[in-house]
Amino acid sequence: MIEFKDIAQKVTSGERITTEDARFLFDYPNVAEIGLLADHVRRRLHPEDRVTYNIGRNINYTNVCWVKCDFCAFYRPPGSSEGWTIPKAQIFEKIEELVAVGGDVERANEILMQGGLNPKLRIDYYEDLFSSIRDRFPQVHQHCLSATEILYIAHISKLSLEDCIRRLRDAGLDSIPGAGAEILSDEVRDVIGFRKDRTHEWLEVHRVAHQLGMHTTATMMYGHVETIDHRVEHLDLVRDLQDESGGLTAFIAWNFQPDSTDLAADENRWGGKKATGYDYLRTIAIARCFLDNVHSFQASWVTQGPKVAQISLKYGVNDFGSTMMEENVVSAAGTSHTGEMTLQEMERLIRDAGYDPVRRNTRYDILN
Ligand code: SF4
Repeated sequence: MIEFKDIAQKVTSGERITTEDARFLFDYPNVAEIGLLADHVRRRLHPEDRVTYNIGRNINYTNVCWVKCDFCAFYRPPGSSEGWTIPKAQIFEKIEELVAVGGDVERANEILMQGGLNPKLRIDYYEDLFSSIRDRFPQVHQHCLSATEILYIAHISKLSLEDCIRRLRDAGLDSIPGAGAEILSDEVRDVIGFRKDRTHEWLEVHRVAHQLGMHTTATMMYGHVETIDHRVEHLDLVRDLQDESGGLTAFIAWNFQPDSTDLAADENRWGGKKATGYDYLRTIAIARCFLDNVHSFQASWVTQGPKVAQISLKYGVNDFGSTMMEENVVSAAGTSHTGEMTLQEMERLIRDAGYDPVRRNTRYDILN
């Protein structure tokens, strides 16, 4: 029989915990004790009393998407009068605003540029966009797209996945966010977004990117139709991927944001209960104990709010993420926290939680 003290012994001695241990922790009543274990792991990996953050901007270049995921309030289907693709000049203006805040250090400002699966945009669109941003803004790190978008770009451009990622990389794409992972279980994906890529495809995009020398992140969107077993399965797949290819820089989790989504409107599929901050702290702490091979854990202040994000720093999180100028995707699903935080506010929140705020780049190198 599994007991908490045995898991604690494993975590504090640096031994890996099992999927059964993780399941046990999801049922364990004392979340604060799990937090202590997660903090132990965090302190082993990040012994300093500091919390990193990144100056970054979200740019949603198109909201046109044919996939119609039931948990998504952001997309508009092809042909909709509310669909848009923003012109390159406007993307440049947004980047100029970012650089005005983040300064001129090479690759120090992050753009997280993502959009829908727009049938009009093929590889040449992305090559042109990434290369012109790279030429014009050497201060900018392009952390863009998602596995879902990349698979589709490869498909409509008739390219192999490897050729597609190589061409995107050569044009200026620096790294790939973990978006689109949701829950890595086809059983769950069949219910919340059956047109979306399969679990093995998400993993394959990240595997190939790592083989091509790129870094990526892993995410998890929980709190919808999945079970605890699905969450653990997700964490297990992420850990295996990292053991194999080692290219994940960070893990970020957030809960399903239900407003204006088809999934929330369907009582048979979703029970109507948004996951709590308490569930977030438990989930992130268990993930921190389980993912012993992922270096950084990012807070999701945009979904959890600044207070829970501050508390998460005691539950295994060592990074406050990005300033996220102009976040549109979860904001479209009604998160009550605005998708933007000033640099001063972010530093204040970190300080108030008892840590020194330190700026980093997307590769998690510390910047002065
Ligand atoms: S989550 Fe992404 S793939 Fe799914 S509908 Fe929204 S934009 Fe499209």
